[in-house]
Amino acid sequence: MIEKIYPGIWKILFRQFGSYVYLIKLGGKNILIDTSSPENTEELINDLKKLGISREGINVIILTHNHPDHVGGISPFPNAKIYGSEEDFEKRVIDIKKLKIPELMVMNTPGHSKGSVCILYKDVLFSGDTLFHRGTIGRTDLPGSSGKEMEKSLKKIKRLRYRLLCPGHGTGD
Ligand SMILES: [Zn+2]
Repeated sequence: MIEKIYPGIWKILFRQFGSYVYLIKLGGKNILIDTSSPENTEELINDLKKLGISREGINVIILTHNHPDHVGGISPFPNAKIYGSEEDFEKRVIDIKKLKIPELMVMNTPGHSKGSVCILYKDVLFSGDTLFHRGTIGRTDLPGSSGKEMEKSLKKIKRLRYRLLCPGHGTGD
């Protein structure tokens, strides 16, 4: 299911487990934040079609971190430049430091994974599995997780001015 949540931003939700995907239309580019699980790829492609966006029409994919329920659907988009943090992806995707879209502010927010990032666009925060609604947070008991780092990252996030939180999972606001 695809739903407009903000001017130029859509949220894509799936019937099965997997992260939310967000589509940002910005400066003629179609940008995806995360790609959910591989099982959800067909649904993702169909939802994008409803907005008239083909697989070839996705220009940029930003991965908040390297967990399979977020990165499962990167392959069907032949023209997408895929970005993620080196700490999580090593050389498998383009280093997120090279992302040159001035409207998107990328922050390193380790804790849930070593290379987790959050993205601030206007007053919208894409928080991956770092921060969810109602103050709940991502797991820090996984390989590569760190409770200490998570605390620091959450402090960083608290200083930001955002009005809409777009996390990787969860319901309501
Ligand atoms: Zn995760």
